[in-house]
Amino acid sequence: MTSRADAYLPALDRAVAHTRTWLTSLPGRRIPPRLSVDELADGLGGPLPDGPTDAGAVIDLLAECVEPGLMAMPSGRFFGWVIGGTLPAALAADWLTAAWDQNSGMRFATPGTVAVEEAAATWLLDLLGLPADADVGFVTGGTMANFTGLAAGRQQVLTDHGWDLDRLGLTGAPRVRVLVGEERHGTVDLALRYLGLGAPTPVAADAAGRIRLDALADALYAGSGPTIVCLQAGNLHSGAFDPLGPAIALAKQHGAWVHVDGAFGLWAGASPRLRHLVEGYETADSWASDAHKTLNVPYDCGIAIVARSRAVRDAMGIQASYLVHAEGPGDPLDKVPELSRRARGIPVWAALRSLGRSGVAELVDGLAGHARAIAEGIATVEGAEILNDVVFTQVCAAFGDDQRTRAVTARILADGTAWMSGSRWRGRDVLRVSVSNWSTDARDVALTVEAVRRAALAR
Ligand SMILES: *Cc1c(COP(=O)(O)O)cnc(C)c1O
Repeated sequence: MTSRADAYLPALDRAVAHTRTWLTSLPGRRIPPRLSVDELADGLGGPLPDGPTDAGAVIDLLAECVEPGLMAMPSGRFFGWVIGGTLPAALAADWLTAAWDQNSGMRFATPGTVAVEEAAATWLLDLLGLPADADVGFVTGGTMANFTGLAAGRQQVLTDHGWDLDRLGLTGAPRVRVLVGEERHGTVDLALRYLGLGAPTPVAADAAGRIRLDALADALYAGSGPTIVCLQAGNLHSGAFDPLGPAIALAKQHGAWVHVDGAFGLWAGASPRLRHLVEGYETADSWASDAHKTLNVPYDCGIAIVARSRAVRDAMGIQASYLVHAEGPGDPLDKVPELSRRARGIPVWAALRSLGRSGVAELVDGLAGHARAIAEGIATVEGAEILNDVVFTQVCAAFGDDQRTRAVTARILADGTAWMSGSRWRGRDVLRVSVSNWSTDARDVALTVEAVRRAALAR
């Protein structure tokens, strides 16, 4: 008789073999997928078989059918959106997290995985220079990290104005004004929608996309009542950072809660060379980041950090007779929107433990250095123009008029050597390059610049 454990091994061995094939294909692989969802549907779908299939055979079928539909997102030459790769220790730790299968909501129930996450949280606060007693919640991504920080803010500013949100809800509550830079990320608006706070008040930004302090001051003076200010560490197009320290000080003069969306940019705080970009950010009330972007852990992993733990626990905590609650440090389930959750902080622990303090700084500096090198390379292409000051990991380029920029972008994607998407920024079509993979190296940079050059010179 095979044991229960033996039942897993053939399928896991197949998964290891397919993983090896995938990872070794990355350096030489064209980036785009070869087939569309609809073209993949036949192999993966059709009628559900009437009976069981062997687990190893299922994994083989899955890997073979999916392969032509995989985008080489973990490639060192993938520069679309802001994606990040996966560090070796983080990927392996993620597998273990799945194998351990701990529902990591309570310290009492799953001490092993909660201890790992708490260690990761302590390291994160230390590396980023954020308050050591802040609550850290591991959520699915930046969207939910923004949601968590803004929910804590909503809780606090309404409490400050004498409104009992838990009992009365938002109906009849004083209106919460939310001031945001005009170039904030769309997920801030999304989180505000989840929270029933409606559309935020946009505040003018400068040419780099940073919130303007004079405009923020005007907006703060123009109203009163419960107020949240949401700032940005890392603009999607320019990589620029809002003037965080002064903006937070200004907002605090008006009693506002200040949240910082640093999905990819918060990590500048872990680099002595780039730390100046986030100067003063530790005086905010909450911060959102992604580990699946700059830190290079697998999807999905975001980080919600809240300095005032009362507010986040009031907003997110749940008390029930069948749970076992921890006092003091609180339970993971008090700090995130979910009750049940995987221990997604474990890959964060592994990433940090494998890199060490200097390794994290080198990772962040390396991404920014490659972004600068790509910008310098593209700048040598005839007719190309770099539109942003490359202070971090983002580059925006144009190639003359919008039509030509779009054509060059389309040719880069068709070429497949590297991948970067088009966008529109400050009224222009742009080619957007976002460097976020630990494995990008000088060769990737050179191949990418040459691909851009080919695309720009073709007619
Ligand atoms: C990616 C991103 C988000 C959203 O994060 P998800 O992980 O996609 O949910 C929010 N803000 C900024 C600045 C981002 O780059």
